[in-house]
Amino acid sequence: MSVSVFDLFKIGIGPSSSHTVGPMIAARQFACHVQGTLGLTAVHHVTVELFGSLSATGVGHGTDKAVLLGLAGHEPDHIDPDQIQPAIADIRTRQTLALLGEHPVPFVEKEHLLFRRKSLPLHPNGMAFHAFDAQGTEIATREYYSVGGGFVIDAAGERVLNSAATAGPDAAGHGQGLPHPFRTGAELLAQCQATGLTPAQLMAANEQHWRSSAEVRRQLMAIWKTMAGAVQRGCASTGTLPGPMHVRRRAAELHHKLSSAPEAALRDPLSMLDWVNLYAMAVNEENAAGGRVVTAPTNGAAGVIPAVLHYYVNFLPSANEDGIATFLLTAGAIGIIYKENASLSGAEVGCQGEVGVACSMAAGALAAVMGGSPEQIENAAEIGMEHNLGMTCDPVGGLVQIPCIERNAMGAIKAINAARMALRGDGQHVVSLDKVIKTMMQTGADMKIKYKETSRGGLAVNVVEC
Ligand code: SF4
Repeated sequence: MSVSVFDLFKIGIGPSSSHTVGPMIAARQFACHVQGTLGLTAVHHVTVELFGSLSATGVGHGTDKAVLLGLAGHEPDHIDPDQIQPAIADIRTRQTLALLGEHPVPFVEKEHLLFRRKSLPLHPNGMAFHAFDAQGTEIATREYYSVGGGFVIDAAGERVLNSAATAGPDAAGHGQGLPHPFRTGAELLAQCQATGLTPAQLMAANEQHWRSSAEVRRQLMAIWKTMAGAVQRGCASTGTLPGPMHVRRRAAELHHKLSSAPEAALRDPLSMLDWVNLYAMAVNEENAAGGRVVTAPTNGAAGVIPAVLHYYVNFLPSANEDGIATFLLTAGAIGIIYKENASLSGAEVGCQGEVGVACSMAAGALAAVMGGSPEQIENAAEIGMEHNLGMTCDPVGGLVQIPCIERNAMGAIKAINAARMALRGDGQHVVSLDKVIKTMMQTGADMKIKYKETSRGGLAVNVVEC
């Protein structure tokens, strides 16, 4: 499978790419499948089974709501976040759901949406959809897997696309014939050495296999604007986050403090860290509230890359629009290597695959816009992951709040330091990016299931929910 930068950066909604965005895409895809094969009028009712991690932390991550919305025909990149609560309330009140907005069927959650403790064989985030006729005979069934970062595959391992996807890897014959194909860090460096291009320039050329240069630029800027919008909304929103813990939103207060005492920055050279923390927390509070964010490369880790990109834009004098494009393309090149060789799923490899990968992508991207060579970029990305190895996923209460929000801030700060360390060197280093990715995957496989997005270990069992 070839991966585009726009597969890694997808505009969606919170709080989780694997538990919200992926299930919404899968549910809609099932309804489309039934519509295309049998016709929706053949359906009397549907049932949905959620397995493994989707069952364990699905309610906290909004999987139940995502499934209802997907069956009703909504898409994560198009739905207005303000429409979600009314749409869910309507289905729950009337106990009726209109498949693809067209064909009403009864839907009583305790009967039709079933949480199974076991896992399906391909991945911890499994789902099974069933459609029945008026006699109760099953007339259609499909299994899907939400494999992280909003990517969905079917039981045959084939990628399931959001219908909104137009020109892209799978729409264009699985991305055959890219001018600069690479799957590993070594291959990326070899391509750079052979062509004299930077990772961002290679990525731009590959993207033009699917869409024009102007379209690539337009979509990159749309990603950037959505990230900036999430920071702005997060900095303006007060109150508490959804869920029984009533976690207080902190970004607005921090933003007010930082904005009202700019002279403090002159006395404290590390005050820049406060701003980076703010950017990350603002995005992740928006994500936790179910707002509009960019999956980067997951929703749980959606704050790291915007925070480091805001650092570049707001604190580095050389920042410009070309640099924003370079940043996102370089981050995408690094993310592709993780997607191709490891995992972006907290349910599969722990938080290494979410905040760890985001940190690695951001570190390489920042090194690129600060003038790093391809070797220094690869080194920065490697450092960004090396010091996240072993990081577990243990969201308290199954919510993408604690430790996720602060963890993004820590990931962003770590990425900035990784870039600076790499830029002080010459790019030569002992542990390659490929070796650290292999280690991350092995570490994830060895990690006990209770530390992989099940909320059965770590902080999740040592913090009492109120
Ligand atoms: S701990 Fe990390 S992987 Fe787990 S939900 Fe939070 S951000 Fe995602």
